Amino acid sequence: MTEPTLLIVSIDTEEDNWRPRRDGVTVENIRELPRLDGLFQRLGVRATYFSTYQVAIHDWAAPILRELHGGGAELGAHLHPWNTPPLDEPFAPRNTMLKNLPAALQLAKLERLTATLREAFGGRPVSFRAGRYGLGPDSVTALIRCGYRVDSSVTPFVSWEEYDDGPTFIGAPLDSYRLAGGADVRIPQPEGPLVELPMSVGYNRPPSGAWARLYRALSTPALRPLHLRGIASRAGIVKRIALSPETDSGADVSLDRDVHRGPRPRDRAALRNGLGGRDPAPDRAVAPLRCRGLPLLAARYAARTTSRRVGSHTGVRSPLMARTEADRAATFPTTR
Ligand SMILES: [Zn+2]
Repeated sequence: MTEPTLLIVSIDTEEDNWRPRRDGVTVENIRELPRLDGLFQRLGVRATYFSTYQVAIHDWAAPILRELHGGGAELGAHLHPWNTPPLDEPFAPRNTMLKNLPAALQLAKLERLTATLREAFGGRPVSFRAGRYGLGPDSVTALIRCGYRVDSSVTPFVSWEEYDDGPTFIGAPLDSYRLAGGADVRIPQPEGPLVELPMSVGYNRPPSGAWARLYRALSTPALRPLHLRGIASRAGIVKRIALSPETDSGADVSLDRDVHRGPRPRDRAALRNGLGGRDPAPDRAVAPLRCRGLPLLAARYAARTTSRRVGSHTGVRSPLMARTEADRAATFPTTR
């Protein structure tokens, strides 16, 4: 019998401005979140909203997030270094990656973000995602210092090195693992205090490891002019898929079957009821989902799933599944 999959939905709750900027920041998209969360509620999904500093300082936006929290959502932290004080560093592309900043400045920004979210939302966030996935060893040290328990910045199989000297996560585990400060974020530190819950990324054919090597080979600069990677993706030979409607279609995402084996038993305590919950997780498999376009995916998903199955105790026999009724009914922990 196929085991049910627990779907964790997380949303980078951030500025409207797609390109990093410090001035003219707007957050109008936050007005749409209640509608999105209503859809989640109907699907039995309790979402985690990773919020940026700029969202928290808009005095009309914070109450919207507080309302969602009151309805059961988890509020986490999302750090955009380029517009989170202190703004001591030059506004430069490489500095948009948190890991590239001095350790003390990473910590100072995280402390400011955490304090601002705490004031705006009335509770301390315990889960985190770095803007542009720019997590590094010093970022982990700062997260532990600030009391975070779960990070979800790692994107397995993906290197961001070409993007303003971002991190590489090639070689990172697909399942949850532990991180300690100052160490390579791809290497599990079994006694580390921070749980890493990587985003779900895989290839359209198992086993992912072998196809990842082929995909990387096709991606080398020498072969790039031949567009082999694009051809292989379109032909369905090998395609990298992130469980994210921001980057991949619902049709592709539904093929993403071989990446979810679930958290380690000792880590389940940190994963219930969102990324930063306190009680043991009821399910065996976890699939974090980062998305801005979730309504599209959710609508597609709902269209092929009966309401009887969504949110049932036994779970949906599908790679994608709304949370179980038991999980939904559980007391939502505060994030204080
Ligand atoms: Zn972001």
